[in-house]
Amino acid sequence: MKAGIYARISQDADGTSLGVHRQVDDCTLEARRRGWDIVDRFVDNDVSATRSKHRPQYARMIDAVTGGEIDALIVWDVDRLTRTPRELEDIIDLADRYKLQLANVGGDIDLSTPQGRMTARIKGTVARHETDQQSRRLKRKFEEKALKGEPHGFTPYGFLRVRDESGATRDVRNPEQAPVVAEAATRFIDGESLRGICADFNARGIHGPRAEKWNTTVLRQILQRATNAGLRTHRGVVVGPANVEPIYDEDTHHQLKAMFDDPTRKNSYVGNTPVHLLTSIAICGLCGSTMRRLRGIVNGTGKQQPPAYGCKSCFKIRRKQSLVDAVVTEHVLARLEQPDALAAIAAGDPGRVKAAEDQARALEARLATASDQFADGIIDGTQLARISAKLRPQIDEARQVVTRALPHSSLAAFTGPGAAQRWAAAPLEQQRAVIQALMTVTILPAGIGKGRDESLIRVEWKTGN
Ligand SMILES: [Zn+2]
Repeated sequence: MKAGIYARISQDADGTSLGVHRQVDDCTLEARRRGWDIVDRFVDNDVSATRSKHRPQYARMIDAVTGGEIDALIVWDVDRLTRTPRELEDIIDLADRYKLQLANVGGDIDLSTPQGRMTARIKGTVARHETDQQSRRLKRKFEEKALKGEPHGFTPYGFLRVRDESGATRDVRNPEQAPVVAEAATRFIDGESLRGICADFNARGIHGPRAEKWNTTVLRQILQRATNAGLRTHRGVVVGPANVEPIYDEDTHHQLKAMFDDPTRKNSYVGNTPVHLLTSIAICGLCGSTMRRLRGIVNGTGKQQPPAYGCKSCFKIRRKQSLVDAVVTEHVLARLEQPDALAAIAAGDPGRVKAAEDQARALEARLATASDQFADGIIDGTQLARISAKLRPQIDEARQVVTRALPHSSLAAFTGPGAAQRWAAAPLEQQRAVIQALMTVTILPAGIGKGRDESLIRVEWKTGN
């Protein structure tokens, strides 16, 4: 018998891969035992048994069989020879057609017998199935963990991973990190920029999650995590309560989420410069909803429209931003230069404002989340309408409470002589606060040909509560 030895080394993850020398040595002994002459050795260096990778020595061995150079083949185990059920069938076919004698040293399969071939086929099929199932099993495992609220992957900043008696994992508040996350959330909701919060953390020597220093990207990622509020997400969707100790409540999470998702805030939350003078302050004279700032669009005649304030709800009122800003500023300055006139509205209730403001924002955030869910197809239009009908009146009520109870201590800094200069130098957020404290701005519908009329911007003074 002219025998060939086929050996293959692979880097199996389970560490059972056998050295090539050992394979060849054992095969050589087996050949001697059988009285076969070894005429060639075929040794492939293969990384994995399942990856379809070219095996030059395997191909050369097949040629040797078909060319009649060898009529017997010795392998250490069948799994060294074939990597897939198809390859096994090829080898069996080859053996039948060329009367190839097959022998193996290790393992318990003898390919020269029908029983051995059947065992090899079953073994090969099972191995292939295992490989296919492995990734599916992993995915399924993650899904199960997700549905049970169990964490997987890395432990998020703010938490410590612990294992309970039953063996299930659970994330609990990290006593050092959780207060940092809570503080950042509160300060961001209160209007501080991510940059400002990071700078403060760095100045205080609080170590960042990955590197020593905090940056806005990292902080934003942390504040957007549903886990912080005890919610479990899977593939980006909240799937239910997480098996964690929350750092803050769900309202806070929805509020943060809406703040990050709000396109008008995209440029403002990172740095310090917020939005526009009258966004969400000016009121639509038709429907009473607040107005947003609209970028100038190119209209049907190809003309670029100037930036404007437009109604958020009925879309029927739109007024040039520069005009409205100028008219309102003029009114504010006239008022600030008469400090005695402000005394009546100086009283306020900061605690009440804060509570009502928080409530309003949380409700608005919920509504925004519902709108997102509608847009994403998670809820339908009827559900969104029901949620909206329930939340809108609550939001309006909270907003009215805020307006009535606003404290006006910040006004003092702007009153009296030089008010105009101090006003001009003040950050936009402060200007907006003063406007909200002093007045209600309503944009009335324009009559035909009267679109630019300043009298259609109504300013009503607040008189305190
Ligand atoms: Zn409107």
